[in-house]
Amino acid sequence: MNFRTRDLVVRYRKGAPAALSRVAMAAEPGSVFAVLGPNGSGKSTLMRALLRTVVRDSGEIHVGGRSIDDWSRRELSRTIGAVAQTEVISFPLSVRELVSMGRYPHLSPLRSEGPADREAVERALERCEAEELSAREVGTLSGGELQRVRIARALAQEPRALILDEPTASLDIHHEMAILRLLRRSADDGMTVVLITHELNLAARFADRLLLLDRGRVAATGSPAEVLREEVLEEVYRWRLRVREDPEVGRLTVTPLD
Ligand code: ADP
Ligand code: MG
Repeated sequence: MNFRTRDLVVRYRKGAPAALSRVAMAAEPGSVFAVLGPNGSGKSTLMRALLRTVVRDSGEIHVGGRSIDDWSRRELSRTIGAVAQTEVISFPLSVRELVSMGRYPHLSPLRSEGPADREAVERALERCEAEELSAREVGTLSGGELQRVRIARALAQEPRALILDEPTASLDIHHEMAILRLLRRSADDGMTVVLITHELNLAARFADRLLLLDRGRVAATGSPAEVLREEVLEEVYRWRLRVREDPEVGRLTVTPLD
């Protein structure tokens, strides 16, 4: 299930500068699509637009070949797994209960939780290496543990697409790599993965296509080699840096200079 936008414009207030300005993107099934850009460049706004939680000013958004306006809220929430940048969970819940919430879009008064739902929850906990946390109170988790559990909730939903906003920002190297490998495998199994990240090197390594935003506009888009170019990145990030091929991993690496 793909995501496509054309000439997408989002403005939070009338007359305010556009948070997204004429953005065109295409994220395809079976691939990881990375969204990059400095703070405030519109990455989270793009996620909200793709989930229809923000109203667009103009332009088109197509999800699975249909205008996003033709989707019901329920269809969208069943089909797309979302991990937002921040979330306040202020009521007492166990980890298993929180991950079970990923099944809610599939349940109804006529269809209560069954063995398949519980299996999806267990599988999601395992894939995020969070089984041993399942009985814990969510409020007692560390930032990184909570992040893994939130990703597990999105996977428990068994969505056709995943959109994640800086999902590994508070994870250590082991769990960051484990999550990226998991996202890569999900994409290889046919899922559409939209990954918002600040990690240029991990994007180069795990993503197929990149979108670099700068103040709401597309600064560059394409393969890692097309986007991760010194002159482009230096202008967008306003810092001198070096882009080199790392022979060890066979991918581009970006290093900021002093
Ligand atoms: P990023 O995720 O790349 O850091 P955002 O999409 O959050 O950027 O923000 C893009 C721009 O829109 C920023 O200028 C930000 O201040 C503004 N913005 C984001 N959310 C809101 C909001 N709810 N109300 C008003 N302005 C917002
Ligand atoms: Mg953001």
